[in-house]
Amino acid sequence: MPAQFDSIIIGAGQAGPSLAGRLTKSGRRIAFIERKLFGGTCVNTGCTPTKAMVASAYVAQKARTAAAYGVTVQGAVSVDMKAVKARKDKIVADSRDGLEKYLRGMNNCTVFTGHASFESPNQVRVGDDLLTAKEIFINVGGRAVVPDFPGVDSVPWMDNVNILELETLPRHLIVVGGSYVGLEFGQIFRRLGSEVTIIEKNSRLVSREDEDVSASISSFLEKEGIRVRTSAECIHFEARGTDIAAGVDCTDDPTDSFGSHVLLAVGRRPNTDDLDLAKAGIAHDAHGYITVDDQLRTNVPGIWALGDCNRRGAFTHTTYNDFEIVAANLLDNDPRRVTDRILCYALYTDPPLGRVGLTETDVRKSGKQALIATRPMTRVSRAIEKGETEGFIKILVDANTKEFLGASILGTGGDEAIHCIIDTMYARAPYTTMQRAVHIHPTVSELLPTVLDDLKPLH
Ligand SMILES: Cc1cc2nc3c(=O)[nH]c(=O)nc-3n(C[C@H](O)[C@H](O)[C@H](O)COP(=O)(O)OP(=O)(O)OC[C@H]3O[C@@H](n4cnc5c(N)ncnc54)[C@H](O)[C@@H]3O)c2cc1C
Repeated sequence: MPAQFDSIIIGAGQAGPSLAGRLTKSGRRIAFIERKLFGGTCVNTGCTPTKAMVASAYVAQKARTAAAYGVTVQGAVSVDMKAVKARKDKIVADSRDGLEKYLRGMNNCTVFTGHASFESPNQVRVGDDLLTAKEIFINVGGRAVVPDFPGVDSVPWMDNVNILELETLPRHLIVVGGSYVGLEFGQIFRRLGSEVTIIEKNSRLVSREDEDVSASISSFLEKEGIRVRTSAECIHFEARGTDIAAGVDCTDDPTDSFGSHVLLAVGRRPNTDDLDLAKAGIAHDAHGYITVDDQLRTNVPGIWALGDCNRRGAFTHTTYNDFEIVAANLLDNDPRRVTDRILCYALYTDPPLGRVGLTETDVRKSGKQALIATRPMTRVSRAIEKGETEGFIKILVDANTKEFLGASILGTGGDEAIHCIIDTMYARAPYTTMQRAVHIHPTVSELLPTVLDDLKPLH
């Protein structure tokens, strides 16, 4: 006999645990299934460990440049990779353990550890247990794509999971993929002491961003000694003695990059291939992303998909917002929708990139009448005082409605300052509201009203 529950949640990522809290409070008896690490990608192999390591890398860099601040560091700066890892592991473990304890201690929540797959639209198998419920929530996340580059199987490559297990520094790390994940790891390891080469198939790094953003990021990474190889048309690998050779075009190019380690950071795929979606009749696209409507319902009544597996976002905050949307619709009679969400995210290089809404390229393509203002971080007093003047601020507004269309803040504090614009966009307030706000001196946010004084038509 299957064990009966009101709801089943598959995956302890960024939506499932909070949803469990709301569902059990509503009186439901729920089954919660996690096959590996509580907290999923973000806590264990994504946001948390990388940002912990970004912090170690930042300190190493500051120590190297201490003299510029009038601070003397005796002797060469060295990095104890085991200690860097131990610090990161503790931060991760505290978060993961806290979450597991929360779920296991939750009233009306039975936790199952194991791989879940569908048996029918209302039945899920986990090991020997067959569970049944009229509501099923899929929050299974994703994993790194391993492309079939020629020779990739002949070299020991890493992804975002096993690179975090390194206890010694790579002599030379080759990062394949010059986008968000690749750039963060590339700069981390360069600052910790590795040689780093970043290989990107597009003609510039983070090609989803505007060209000036890509150029500025390339510039500050190259100043730190990272080698950037773009337009890598035909990436291939070969073991050469103790080295790994990475070729970037299909000719016998003598300019292969040689490294000791390879990180593949070329995209993600959803963890849906082993869920037996077909047994439940759940629709998905050609890449395995589960098809959902604006309230995250799948095509099968009583089944929802949240987070990275539904292709409606690829971030922790979008996954958490998926939980809010589902809970609001199901429990609060509040018709929140995915399309109410405004795109925003950060890239955690140092300095970081805070982004919201449309890029300048998007705005130009849209044909909207727009105004634009920019300011280099060399003209932001907080950045000058911190000695961190790389990057710039760029803001776009609609010339007719005066509402913000989007912004990029590439610079120290950009990941925080961007929220002034995010909140104004959610408020649907015109930019003139921000111009009349008094921000705190000295901050990066303080300069945003001043930047707006420079708005001029986008030609
Ligand atoms: C290196 C890296 C850095 C990142 N940094 C950031 C950042 O700074 N900010 C940000 O917003 N986002 C960041 N992300 C993205 C972020 O980690 C994801 O968007 C987020 O974790 C998605 O949450 P999720 O709940 O959808 O999936 P996940 O967090 O992946 O959780 C899914 C869970 O489901 C479990 N599961 C899967 N299949 C099954 C099954 N069949 N049965 C049982 N359990 C199953 C998995 O074990 C996992 O625990 C980063 C990602 C990477 C890789």
